[in-house]
Amino acid sequence: MRILVIEDEAALRGQLAAQLGREGFRVDQTGDGDEGLYLAREYPFDGAVLDLGLPGTPGLEILRQMRAAGNRLPVLVLTARGRWQDKVEGLEAGADDYLAKPFEMEELLARLRALLRRAAGAAGQVIEAGPLRLDRAGQRLWVRGAPVELTAYEFRLLERLMAERGRVLSKRELSDYLYPHDEDRDSNVLEVLVGRLRRKLDPDGSLVPIETLRGRGYRFAIDGDPV
Ligand code: CA
Repeated sequence: MRILVIEDEAALRGQLAAQLGREGFRVDQTGDGDEGLYLAREYPFDGAVLDLGLPGTPGLEILRQMRAAGNRLPVLVLTARGRWQDKVEGLEAGADDYLAKPFEMEELLARLRALLRRAAGAAGQVIEAGPLRLDRAGQRLWVRGAPVELTAYEFRLLERLMAERGRVLSKRELSDYLYPHDEDRDSNVLEVLVGRLRRKLDPDGSLVPIETLRGRGYRFAIDGDPV
């Protein structure tokens, strides 16, 4: 996933770029509004983090111009603390979410991921990858055209992995997603679930789209996906 960061505070921009990079995103960054608008127009990003006060084209104007041109890129706006007008104007100009400075990096990542997931959901109720075809609305799955029955948990797990194809999802992240109200779950539950899902997707072992990355988590990848 490719993210555009438009922020003129160099230290913050550097932190954002480094953190997003560690999370597996490809990052393009600029501190200039004109360049930001140009990049947003010319390159296919999956999401953007946009500061409002910028040299060159201001953040709100970037957002307005993008939306006027039909660009639906998910945008997380960064606002100055206490500037509630920024929030209102940002949302009116087409921001998908906003975050007041200063913020915790974890919070930014969580908000950004939520935006990306929502965008993926809106973009298509059907996700196809290799031999798999997953219908989110109908909660159905086909493998090489044949329907495969999944439990609700198996479906949710596969849907999340496929929606974030190519990204490593930690066990913690997946457990939080699948069992949000279960305080003392243990990671064996997730491992068993992954094992069962793999066998259903791939009974003869010819295709294993769910990789285990030791100590890191799981990743859905089809042959040819970048590592
Ligand atoms: Ca600024």
